[in-house]
Amino acid sequence: MSTPTTNNNRILENQSDDEDKVLDLTLRPKTWNQYIGQERIKKNLKIILTAAQKRKEVPEHLLFYGGSGLGKTTISRIFAKEMGANLHIATGPSIEKIGDLASILTNLSDGDILFLDECHRINRVCEEYLYPAMEEFKLNIILGKGPMARIMDMKLNRFTLIGATTRVALLSSPLRNRFGAIFQMDYYNNEELEKIIQNSAEILGIEIEPSAKKIIAQRARFTPRVVNRLLKRVRDWAQVEGEGVITEKIAKSALDFLEIDNLGLETGDRRVIETIIKKFNGGPVGVQSLAAASNEDKDAILDIYEPYLMQLGFIQRTPRGRIAEKSAYEHLGIKYTGTQNLL
Ligand code: ADP
Repeated sequence: MSTPTTNNNRILENQSDDEDKVLDLTLRPKTWNQYIGQERIKKNLKIILTAAQKRKEVPEHLLFYGGSGLGKTTISRIFAKEMGANLHIATGPSIEKIGDLASILTNLSDGDILFLDECHRINRVCEEYLYPAMEEFKLNIILGKGPMARIMDMKLNRFTLIGATTRVALLSSPLRNRFGAIFQMDYYNNEELEKIIQNSAEILGIEIEPSAKKIIAQRARFTPRVVNRLLKRVRDWAQVEGEGVITEKIAKSALDFLEIDNLGLETGDRRVIETIIKKFNGGPVGVQSLAAASNEDKDAILDIYEPYLMQLGFIQRTPRGRIAEKSAYEHLGIKYTGTQNLL
């Protein structure tokens, strides 16, 4: 059996390599003003922050959900900075044992913020220990086993948990209910993406033409992380193939070379749509079958390809599976037969 295709093109991967991490750190906004877009969320957060400061209380626990690279970590960092709080960072999968959770929670000082990325992946048993910690700042550890078991009540310092997840549907409802405010991150429009490109280009010290900004923004899947990665690739191209300035021509040829089309679709996206159309007659098809038939990883389909294709209106998720829409046929130049509408 062949293994799912690994994405050689770095633009779309969820994981970032060291170079990306450095780029992320360099380009990451540090103030509300530098953080472009998400106006409603920013306004809400400022109110939560000011109210908590006035009451001299810790802010309520916050949950951010939405696709990778939409700015969940960045906004949490800004919130912590504005709050004047220490930020501790952990990820759901790294909390495997009660001891892991206990060591994180007991290390928090009064008013600290704990950012828990991928919070839907926390171990279920540990998650239950998190409930009293979130509600009453208490950790109830069970020492020993059987009749000799004792519960030790540990008092924790008051803290704010900020959870981030790309898959809110996988979050258990008891955990979700313990967040005081829940925010869905919006995709970014082209105008916002162009502002991000401009700011990033200034930080990277590269000149960019307005028309080139438009091209990059159009192909960036409405996502700041993708916009920055594209900018970096185009900058390399401008320095090697051009005069060091990102012109419209340079931006186009670099992105075409990377096989990123005018709507930001990459090879993997196209393979997913083509599979639905050609192998499943337009759908409906379940994600498992789609992953097997397209040779793509199921998580990549769920986390990377599908959200964007749905956003573009190219595929629709129905109770019976995914179906390809007419616009997807048109984009790929495949004759639309309309069969899926009969199903
Ligand atoms: P997430 O945590 O949702 O995966 P991040 O917060 O790590 O996303 O954002 C990825 C990168 O995208 C950041 O390093 C930053 O450079 C950029 N970015 C994200 N949101 C914004 C924004 N609103 N304005 C400007 N840049 C942003």
